Amino acid sequence: MTHQPSTQLSLPPVTVIGLGPMGLALAGTLLRSGHPTTVWNRTPEKARDLVSRGARLGVSVADAVTASPLTLVCLKDYASLYEVLDPAAGTVSGRALVNLNSGTPQEAHTATEWAAERGAGYLDGAIMVPPPLVGDPGSVFLYSGPREVFDAHRATLESLGDPRYLGDDPGLAVLHNAALLGLMYATMNGFLHATALAGSAGVPTAEFADLAVNWFLPTVVNSTLAEHAPDLDAGHYPGDLGTLEMNLNALDHIARTCVEQGVHAEQPRLMREIAAQAIGDGHGGSNYLAVFEVFKKAAASAT
Ligand code: NAP
Repeated sequence: MTHQPSTQLSLPPVTVIGLGPMGLALAGTLLRSGHPTTVWNRTPEKARDLVSRGARLGVSVADAVTASPLTLVCLKDYASLYEVLDPAAGTVSGRALVNLNSGTPQEAHTATEWAAERGAGYLDGAIMVPPPLVGDPGSVFLYSGPREVFDAHRATLESLGDPRYLGDDPGLAVLHNAALLGLMYATMNGFLHATALAGSAGVPTAEFADLAVNWFLPTVVNSTLAEHAPDLDAGHYPGDLGTLEMNLNALDHIARTCVEQGVHAEQPRLMREIAAQAIGDGHGGSNYLAVFEVFKKAAASAT
């Protein structure tokens, strides 16, 4: 049996294109919030459960897009966005598209041009939580593009989580996504490597995790990274409490310990190499945060 909650029929209709794990979570959340929800997916069978709960399955992409003033696109990548929306390009004029797939800033700019040429309002976005957390008020969603498109649909976007508007530049959402995911993977690898190293002596993971997390958060994240963030912008790396030369020694010990214990040593070796490069650039007497200069320089030479 299909139904829409009668008390909430005044909420604006929304269309969701793409029903992978994330698109299913988006559409399911919008339905639960009371938005009349139209969906479309290349493989229509994936809409069966949503339809049984009250969603409408568009008979075509054009039919789905014209059902709502706002269409959320959640496909694998930008290439699939064009593949799906090109045949329905005539229907997007005067409507808003919010693209939530991952990609690069350049891809976001190209998609913005594609939408502008067809008269659509376009926001690029990035989802910073896994599907089960969609709909939680604290779940961070990043958006960039024209402020008026964000403001017009802000209330609907709030049904999905905590919408953060980053600015007019449409590339900002995916840029932040890449930066935050880079942080996540580097931190997870750091933790997994450390756990493997401790585990090489038979230390149980739960025991090590308790020590590691309770040391890392106050000592490294709060006291070093958050507190000294302004120093990074200022290029201010006083080495009076410990120098990069001293840290190079520590990185060397980590790499040698890995070899002794028979644990993968490439990650500490790479970190050692980056620190050595900063020292070679004249930062040996600075504190460890001076490796920031190496990262910035590599970014500049890559563009
Ligand atoms: P996904 O595997 O990245 O995307 C699946 C969706 O893309 C399905 O709707 C699939 O259609 C469609 N698709 C793929 N290639 C297509 C093509 N050539 N033509 C038409 N449709 C095509 O799964 P997902 O987890 O739902 O992710 C969607 C987006 O959300 C991705 O960009 C991902 O980076 C982002 N995201 C995902 C998560 C997560 O934890 N899952 C978290 C944050 C962000 P079919 O069903 O027909 O195959």
